Amino acid sequence: MSRLDTREKLAILADAAKYDASCASSGTSKRDSRDGKGIGSTEGMGICHAYAPDGRCISLLKILLTNSCIFDCHYCINRKSSNVRRARFTAEEVVQLTLSFYRRNYIEGVFLSSGIIRSSNYTMEQIVEVARSLREDHDFRGYIHLKTIPDADPELVRLAGVHADRVSINVELPTERGLQRLAPEKDGTRIEGAMKDVKLAIDDRQDAKKRYKSAPSFAPAGQSTQMIVGADSANDRDIMLKASSLYDRFGLRRVYYSAFSPIPDASAVLPLNRPPLMREHRLYQSDWLMRFYGFTPVDVVNAAGDDGMLPLDIDPKLAWALKYRDNFPVDINRAPRETLLRIPGLGVKAVNRIVTSRRWRRLRLDDVARLSVSLAKIRPFIVTEDWRPTLLTDRADLTKWVKPQTQQLELFGA
Ligand code: SF4
Repeated sequence: MSRLDTREKLAILADAAKYDASCASSGTSKRDSRDGKGIGSTEGMGICHAYAPDGRCISLLKILLTNSCIFDCHYCINRKSSNVRRARFTAEEVVQLTLSFYRRNYIEGVFLSSGIIRSSNYTMEQIVEVARSLREDHDFRGYIHLKTIPDADPELVRLAGVHADRVSINVELPTERGLQRLAPEKDGTRIEGAMKDVKLAIDDRQDAKKRYKSAPSFAPAGQSTQMIVGADSANDRDIMLKASSLYDRFGLRRVYYSAFSPIPDASAVLPLNRPPLMREHRLYQSDWLMRFYGFTPVDVVNAAGDDGMLPLDIDPKLAWALKYRDNFPVDINRAPRETLLRIPGLGVKAVNRIVTSRRWRRLRLDDVARLSVSLAKIRPFIVTEDWRPTLLTDRADLTKWVKPQTQQLELFGA
């Protein structure tokens, strides 16, 4: 590896990190340095800007310790056989870079991942050292998200959680079959084993916190993971069932879905084209249905077609409603909150407003119009004091009526 200066390394390693979408900073505890102690804060908008290859702004601040790797995952631009320029930071260089960016107000924290150098344990030690030094040597109070390395010693993963706000390990692909084909050196069972260890450590610390206020925290922003969409033959049903199982078993805060981006010098086993970005969007919408709208994983996968794929032209909540029309129309004035949440076009905020307003009087169509974003989208599915969609939900052409013409129906409208 030729000698590179910091700027060159930064260019290579920040660019190499852009393929990872799992770096949101939500959900951690509040810390700041307004009392004059330490440096940094977990508050404020975002952490640092990073862009996915398709131009989406997906997070702030992220770099790799190195883009060299001893593994050869087919979908990864940093794989051993990839012909890319390599660079490597020392742990101390990442610490100094983070501090200097922080002082200049460029960033609010650090998201650190890495290719695997020498061994999983050696790489994990370097990553942990960055977080340890920031926290202990520099009293850094900003956000730290560490990506854990597959097969790293559980003690190192535990140390990562002691210093980081969030830790994550990517499952990468929803099926073991896909993993064996595209990332043969990775083992789904061991990846899930690491997630289980993190969950147990988080649970232990939460119990300890209830008993002792001063108990040290462990990954207060929890753990997350990422799945690549469209690199293998897994359909949306496989992906959603996997996500739901991960949420249930390991208490994940987030599962991120990242549409596969064709990479330069790609392996021949990969598809030539990226999946439609709308597919990624539909998966996020389905994820929200499970986390915030009371949909079961079975409900969500039932919204998919026979091929296991979610429709791209309508959102999954509308797809479910059109498939299970006997659940509609829903009486806005009587239905329980969980049933209101199933109405296409009604978001959580609108449902909360409806539930509050109907305590005082029976709601009319005009009231629903005021409390929601678009009445046209909701009307076929509801009953109000002055409105009943006679047999509308039986119409063969209902999809045409409710399908957005120029703009996607907003699942999460206010
Ligand atoms: S282990 Fe990570 S960095 Fe290495 S090739 Fe696989 S995905 Fe890429």
